[in-house]
Amino acid sequence: MYSDKNVSFKHGLLYVCYILLQLSWGLFQTLLGFLLFLLFIKHPHDFYHGAIRTKWPTFNGISLGLFIFVPNEKNPDLLKYTKQDSYRLKERCDRISVHEYGHTIQSLILGPLYLLTVGFVSLSWSRLSRYKKLRQQYGVPYSFAWPEQWADSLGEKILKKPALR
Ligand SMILES: [Zn+2]
Repeated sequence: MYSDKNVSFKHGLLYVCYILLQLSWGLFQTLLGFLLFLLFIKHPHDFYHGAIRTKWPTFNGISLGLFIFVPNEKNPDLLKYTKQDSYRLKERCDRISVHEYGHTIQSLILGPLYLLTVGFVSLSWSRLSRYKKLRQQYGVPYSFAWPEQWADSLGEKILKKPALR
């Protein structure tokens, strides 16, 4: 019993450090994340290893400092993306959470540079049609872009669960 308590104390301490760092060194992206959090205030939220997770009604994820946004596995409108397979939707939600958590660690490492580097590259990579075409036509994987690959490996290393890949 003592060791269990010890482990959770250690985790609690790590979470406090994590939150304080996101509120200082990672403040820019945390503020943006907070605004997005307010926009989606009515959607379900929970704590995810220190981060504040919002389950929103889209199939994509985003990570802004202390806040991550992932697909809501209970939203029936999202089932169209997984051919009505609720198991696959849940898996997608879990894997995106690990991936987005990886981005929150990048926010801790890069601090004020996060939005200019990871934010800029990720947003262009996910949204610009020329990159979308590249992925569709030539089968270039999403994790080809460096911030994405790095987010996957950080998330997997820390949480010991599979990310997007
Ligand atoms: Zn990403």
